[in-house]
Amino acid sequence: MKTIGLLGGMSWESTREYYELLNTMAREHFGGSHSCPCIIHSFDFAEIDALQHQDKWDEMARLLIKASVSLESSGAELLMIGTNTMHLLADQIEKSIDIPLVHIADAVAEPIIKMGLKKIALLGTRFTMEKAFYANRLKEKHGISTLVPDENDRKYIHRVIYEELIKGVIKDDSRNGFLKIIDRLAKQGAEGVILGCTEIPLLVKQKHCQIPVLDSTSLHAKAAFEMAIK
Ligand code: GLU
Repeated sequence: MKTIGLLGGMSWESTREYYELLNTMAREHFGGSHSCPCIIHSFDFAEIDALQHQDKWDEMARLLIKASVSLESSGAELLMIGTNTMHLLADQIEKSIDIPLVHIADAVAEPIIKMGLKKIALLGTRFTMEKAFYANRLKEKHGISTLVPDENDRKYIHRVIYEELIKGVIKDDSRNGFLKIIDRLAKQGAEGVILGCTEIPLLVKQKHCQIPVLDSTSLHAKAAFEMAIK
């Protein structure tokens, strides 16, 4: 199989999920002692977090492009950006490398299309919920409409991601908060919910929800693995 390059550490709480998912799929697919050949560039998330909240996207593009180029020259044959938010820079990154980029929004779109769902709630950082890059990709490339929480709920989700989930803190209270938000969006017509932040699946799982849950971390890992074994 091809060697997967992963931009990780955003945060490492989800990077270790990616690592486990990729290796588990390799074991199930090939059997024996097989695991997934991969190269991970793991950022210090404090640096990324600070730049995000100062809106320094050019600076982050420079860092992520440098790491992507280095993954490619180290032997990565396809690239994953292990965070939804940083897909804001996906087009710039894709142009700087010669290996394919496995886009997280395309990975999430696939089962939504298969299930025939048209309107989907999108939960993520405020960058993912408020900037156009994610919703536009779903709409323009896949015909999927997204519904985001209201401003208060967006603030709540963003706070829980940065103050709890990326630090490995999982609280029942926060899960209940997320479930109430998902419920409100379902009442507004959402037929499913994208957990569009790679740490949210650590808190919310399908068993907690009435509507279909699209886990961006595992769908992204699955899409990359499938491309790698093609
Ligand atoms: N992992 C998160 C995401 O999927 C948030 C951390 C980040 O901003 O990269 O968006």
